[in-house]
Amino acid sequence: MSERYHAVFKCIGCGETYPLDEIIYRCRKCNELLEVHHDLEMLRDARSASDWRALFDSRVGTTQWPYGSGVWGKKEFVCPEVDGENVISMFEGNTNLFWAKRFGEMLGMKDLWVKMCGNSHTGSFKDLGMTVLVSMVNEMIRRGKKIDAVACASTGDTSAALAAYCAYAGIPSIVFLPANKISTAQLVQPMANGAIVLSLDTNFDGCMKVVQEITKDNTIYLANSMNSLRVEGQKSISVELVQQFNWEVPDYIIIPGGNLGNVSALGKGFSMMLELGIISKKPTIVLAQAQNANPLYQSYLKGFKEFAPMVPQKTLASAIQIGDPVSVRKAIAALQSFNGIVEQASEEELADAAALADRTGMFNCPHTGVALAVLVKLVKGGVIPKDARTIVISTAHGLKFSEFKVGYHEGTIPGVSSRYANKPLLLPPDTDKVREALAKELAARKA
Ligand SMILES: *Cc1c(COP(=O)(O)O)cnc(C)c1O
Ligand SMILES: [Zn+2]
Repeated sequence: MSERYHAVFKCIGCGETYPLDEIIYRCRKCNELLEVHHDLEMLRDARSASDWRALFDSRVGTTQWPYGSGVWGKKEFVCPEVDGENVISMFEGNTNLFWAKRFGEMLGMKDLWVKMCGNSHTGSFKDLGMTVLVSMVNEMIRRGKKIDAVACASTGDTSAALAAYCAYAGIPSIVFLPANKISTAQLVQPMANGAIVLSLDTNFDGCMKVVQEITKDNTIYLANSMNSLRVEGQKSISVELVQQFNWEVPDYIIIPGGNLGNVSALGKGFSMMLELGIISKKPTIVLAQAQNANPLYQSYLKGFKEFAPMVPQKTLASAIQIGDPVSVRKAIAALQSFNGIVEQASEEELADAAALADRTGMFNCPHTGVALAVLVKLVKGGVIPKDARTIVISTAHGLKFSEFKVGYHEGTIPGVSSRYANKPLLLPPDTDKVREALAKELAARKA
């Protein structure tokens, strides 16, 4: 049945096409990025919009391989080429929407939701793209392509996902990490999954340069998001989001961005649903950047007329400490077609927003902190109306960033005053002293 649908790589510059099982990351004619292009006519002919919606709804929660995955539950829209047997999946996706009731109330909002993409196998949304990429590699190996390993440069989460999916498939993986710029959890994940872990004395952009050289040898396949197979998997969050609201499109979606693959994917998912008549309304997409790594924000201020890569400053939001984003052109196109807004957050703003939201039951990574800080700014500034249905994309699980959390609550992050810090009370094992301390704490919380 999957043979009925067809997709190819298509250059975003000159439109040249290449088969999906070709080892290619950029157009051979004009060097632009490729995107996966689906045969929309065929998809339109196969099922009506309401039949597609019903099919996708019927697959949620199933164990029927591979449709129980939030990504492969939309296989026809994502990567129809892969044989079901070759899919490498951990039933990623289908992450919950967290109704941010108390956080929303603080801002006067009633319809604020956080899409918990970090509640996934390796703790970040990177799983959504990696399942597609590694499945396609597995498919290519089965078709006789000579691929010895899959490699990526990473700010931490891509390498964790690559290592896990390759370990599941039994394919060797190689990860290039900037030394001392990722969290302990992110370093230990690829180590545990048996990847070849290379720690380079540079930043992400430096690692990216080396991995692009190394993967010119076609036996080592490149897994960075310039590889548009990942964008296809990540695109499923748009479909999933709308599906979770009974196919109603939200008003605003706020997403943190660094290399800008994820915001491109979000836009691509909505564009495809619009083209197929699955939805008829456009959301506004808001891209949130750390002030210390804000090349797209700078470009936005100039109406996207120019874009200048920068050397990023250190940011707590380490996964978006990127100054030369590979998907910038796709991201600008996505923002332009969805009323795009770009806003930034300082280190203190992102740390406080994450901590304040944690007090309402969340446990946020710093990147989600960036998105939450941007939300606060835009609501207080009247850009996002209080009654708008607004979704914040949470990109990773807070537990991957325990150093950030501990540093905040211990008040040891330079330049951050930690106004919502909550330190443990050090007390003797004495009932009276404990009672006294509790009375004081409870009174303080009432005030
Ligand atoms: C990768 C990542 C991002 C940024 O996504 P891009 O596609 O690079 O813009 C944001 N948050 C987390 C936790 C990530 O791992
Ligand atoms: Zn081209």
